[in-house]
Amino acid sequence: MGLTIALNRGRILDECLPLLAEAGIVPVEDMSASRKLVFNTAIGGHKLVVMRGSDVPTYVEYGAADVGITGKDTILEYGGGTHFYERLDLRVGRCRLMTAVPASTADGLQMREGHLRVATKFVNVARQYFEERNRQVTIIPLSGAVEIAPLMSLADCIVDIVDTGNTLQANGLVALETIAEISSRVIVNRASMKTKFDEVQLLIEALRAAVD
Ligand code: AMP
Repeated sequence: MGLTIALNRGRILDECLPLLAEAGIVPVEDMSASRKLVFNTAIGGHKLVVMRGSDVPTYVEYGAADVGITGKDTILEYGGGTHFYERLDLRVGRCRLMTAVPASTADGLQMREGHLRVATKFVNVARQYFEERNRQVTIIPLSGAVEIAPLMSLADCIVDIVDTGNTLQANGLVALETIAEISSRVIVNRASMKTKFDEVQLLIEALRAAVD
């Protein structure tokens, strides 16, 4: 039958393709040399579909894809594990979702008291994080260049992905709290988990072996 596998394009794709190859899933043509978005695989009859990371959970929830690979940040922002099953941590694409503030306002690496304006691409995660801490915040949604928001006096604080910390440092920010440890995860459509159990299980176990 074959599985439809939704993949996050960009950095995560580059790190996941070698794992998929080790699991026996190899596209019939070079994905980086093509502008196509759907690729057949050499064996197993699987299809690889490349898309924006934030669309992967949508394709998997509604069953347009049986399986998806995307970052935990995207999964958390989408609303997590009730829409699909999260089955495997691929341990690539590692980074952290963190709060950060201008170095000049970091008070002993504590978030200052009072109302905060928080700029972020992760509005749901940020809202939940501050709500759980009983912090009064205004969430300011941005779709990129979040790090400059405090410099431009748009926000007091940001919630963003941090890897090396170079981007924060270059913009005069310091990281404060870790909201979540991020890595790429394999998610599975709830119906596919039943109707294509053997194929899904085979894929998960092959990927697990590749990760180990
Ligand atoms: P860095 O300067 O190494 O801390 O990288 C931070 C920037 O790179 C942020 O703007 C992130 O959007 C992006 N980034 C780093 N690692 C990842 C990752 N694993 N997944 C998605 N974006 C990332």
